[in-house]
Amino acid sequence: MPDYDQAYQEFNWKDVEKNFSWYETGKVNMAYEAIDRHAESWRKNKVALYYSDQNRDEKYTFRDLKLRSNQFGNVLRTIGVEKGDRVFLFMPRSPELYISLLGILKNGSIVGPLFEAFMEQAVRDRLENSDATTLITTKDLLPRVPYKELAHLNQIILVGEDELPDNTEDIKFYNYETEMKKASRDLEIEWVDREDGMILHYTSGSTGKPKGILHAHNAMIQHYQTAKWVLDLQEEDIYWCTADPGWVTGTSYGIFGPWLNGASNLIRGGRFSPEDWYLTIEKYGVTVWLSAPTAFRRLMSVGDNVSEEYDLSSLRHILSVGEPLNAEVVHWGMKVYKLRIHDHWWMTETGGIIIANYRSMEMKPGSMGKPFPGIEAAILDDAGNELPQGQMGKLCVKAGWPSMLRAVWKNEERFNQYFPVDGWFESGDLASMDEDGYFWFGGRDDDVIQTSGERVGPFEVESKLVEHPAVAEAAVIGKPDPVRGEIIKAFVALRDGYTKTDELQEELRLYVKQGLAAHAAPREIEIRDFLPKTRSGKIMRRVLKAWDLGLPTGDLSTMEE
Ligand code: ATP
Ligand code: MG
Repeated sequence: MPDYDQAYQEFNWKDVEKNFSWYETGKVNMAYEAIDRHAESWRKNKVALYYSDQNRDEKYTFRDLKLRSNQFGNVLRTIGVEKGDRVFLFMPRSPELYISLLGILKNGSIVGPLFEAFMEQAVRDRLENSDATTLITTKDLLPRVPYKELAHLNQIILVGEDELPDNTEDIKFYNYETEMKKASRDLEIEWVDREDGMILHYTSGSTGKPKGILHAHNAMIQHYQTAKWVLDLQEEDIYWCTADPGWVTGTSYGIFGPWLNGASNLIRGGRFSPEDWYLTIEKYGVTVWLSAPTAFRRLMSVGDNVSEEYDLSSLRHILSVGEPLNAEVVHWGMKVYKLRIHDHWWMTETGGIIIANYRSMEMKPGSMGKPFPGIEAAILDDAGNELPQGQMGKLCVKAGWPSMLRAVWKNEERFNQYFPVDGWFESGDLASMDEDGYFWFGGRDDDVIQTSGERVGPFEVESKLVEHPAVAEAAVIGKPDPVRGEIIKAFVALRDGYTKTDELQEELRLYVKQGLAAHAAPREIEIRDFLPKTRSGKIMRRVLKAWDLGLPTGDLSTMEE
């Protein structure tokens, strides 16, 4: 990005639209723009996808992906899948997952990616809510799909050289490899309107039951430009986004953003381990790396001697999203990687990045950065009035950015709740803006603590705790108290090499009291082996609170085992 202030003043989304085919034909298709456009250009033999896991190590050029997704589009067409049908993916990361996803889009269908670790209830809820007709999965995951009980689901494609279960009256099975072999590599793409449905993503479930968020092909405008300026993608980059496509980061910035920009995209299957991740960076020469605070905090807690064993010098740009990024982690990153970790903020509903730290901009560690050009963000009170600088309030976005959600699936009432004040989208997060226009995260609206007449955002207390050398992670909740309204209770997981003692608990309390404020110091501290998290790595404060108060825990479909 050029100079931020200049870009913010001069930028116009209309100019970005000129990159895509509807500018000439009036019609568009995300898969065409992300893959075929490059396959028909000088980039055709450029590697689009490096895929590796414990068993596989493969590469695919833009041309390879074009032809294979054409084939998969033909497979779907042959078995009667139509435009607008919901086609779900429930499988581990693999080249087939990405090829299928592109084929679904080329067919004009709406893709629904499910995280591979979901158990039966989570799979059932989502397939039921979306009325999915077709599912692509593997033999290993099939036992978690209650297909006999799903009225709308009528076909399942199994990836892997497996024998197929018997067809029933209601459901037909196909084998991915067999059908692909039969399918032509030429496909007449389904050209769609910008507003046609593209992807249905269920939210992470951090604050309650996940919502089915529908995005349109139009989102490409934002995916393209934010990937260009925030991820700063250049022609020679090897880009690695560690998020699974079951979550919005894994599609918007694991698929669409990078490929719309013609970048080489690395996908690493399997589980997180510091050694494996550092080895991946070294082996592929990763240059741009997008991950999440939970991963950075874990890398931090294993000690710097691990990173020192690998050659990480290819890295030139690091980004973080999904949860607040503690300033402490940014400082650690500068020491270990010699680079700033660029925090940025958005959510499933926004479809793309809204607020970010840009490479060309001065960074304030702990801040989410500034609104993307063409986007207006503000801190409002309950009545929709803008709050003065420095005051914490509702983080809202002026409605109408390109990748804004188009619907909450079959739930118009929930959709309307996002827009309580005319023209503004209410995120459900709390934040403040400082005198230089930087945004600072405060916490989730539901998580804010009222103690002795003060409003305390859990994040600032958590961040203070994480600065302490013994603390790996912290989660803070408000606990009802007859005198103070609420008291602050902190749950803490320790770094390797520290043990739980009463002295340490007291030390942590004093640490927050002296470092932040007396009223922000937790009255109770509980040291735990782990904190409950969503499968996308977000701390579930509502679950800690329910456990603590002995209340029902609510929807746990996305919680880590
Ligand atoms: P649910 O909506 O189901 O409760 P969720 O809000 O965690 O789950 P996502 O859409 O995956 O689902 O996450 C978006 C949320 O993640 C944001 O509303 C915000 O609370 C948090 N978040 C994302 N990026 C950041 C960031 N950079 N700093 C702080 N919080 C962030
Ligand atoms: Mg949310």
